[in-house]
Amino acid sequence: MDLKKNLQAHGISLKRSLGQNFLLNKAIPAKIIKFCSLTTADTVIEIGVGAGVLTELLAKKARKVIAYEIDKKLEPILFRLKKYDNLQLLFQDFLKANLSTLQIEGNLFFVANVPYYITSPIIEKIMFDSPTFKEALLMVQKEYAERLLAKPSTKSYGALTVSISAFSRVTKLFDVSKKNFFPIPGVDSSVIKLEPLTSPKISYEERNKFRSFVRSSFAQRRKKLKNNLKSLIPDVGKFLKEAGLSENIRAEELSPEMFIGLYHILKRW
Ligand code: SAM
Repeated sequence: MDLKKNLQAHGISLKRSLGQNFLLNKAIPAKIIKFCSLTTADTVIEIGVGAGVLTELLAKKARKVIAYEIDKKLEPILFRLKKYDNLQLLFQDFLKANLSTLQIEGNLFFVANVPYYITSPIIEKIMFDSPTFKEALLMVQKEYAERLLAKPSTKSYGALTVSISAFSRVTKLFDVSKKNFFPIPGVDSSVIKLEPLTSPKISYEERNKFRSFVRSSFAQRRKKLKNNLKSLIPDVGKFLKEAGLSENIRAEELSPEMFIGLYHILKRW
């Protein structure tokens, strides 16, 4: 049965507030999975099952699938998934899930057509509050992918770009037109891949300190870095001099590598 008829038959209307724009074109989940190095020995966590288009393909490919969906009302359209005994379907808020208690077999992967209203909290949870993982393949809003991949001194470049690229390699895989979803959202999407760096220059334990340093640096984009860091570093002029930076520099002019260098100087300061 096609998606719209199936939803109608069960009296389900989709909720914009939960980011419920479901994939209509089945070629797209298949394409996402092709870019993922998931094998039959591995575990995959899916965030936001929806009508289960991705979930079903994952269940056919992985050893174990742990799939989160916040909306229990979708359960009647997911009965066909019951036949997969390697699938754990959890009607829970992913953001509240305790991932450290999960039994992971093989390597861990994340795959999701992300509910856009919580893209950043989801990426932060995957990156900074999850067991070690190999790859995260995520469909995000196209503009969001541009922010993750932005170059210094561009409008999209910011604290998000720096914080994520200090800990992972981000690759854009392909764009997806909004016409492939039901209901049609207001924006196009991109599928990205995040791969944690094996030896990041900031230790994992220091991730929160680094991220708050970066956030402070970008606190007011139009202000000079010196002014944004004034409350954090009393003698900020001297600090910038030691780092070999002009007093007039703005955060958006610094590359992620320069932020990492600055952070290490700040630690000795
Ligand atoms: N995977 C499906 C697809 O590609 O068609 C659905 C994707 S839809 C963009 C996002 C899904 O995430 C929705 O089914 C929504 O109910 C679910 N969702 C929203 N917030 C969530 C949360 N906090 N935890 C788990 N699932 C959530």
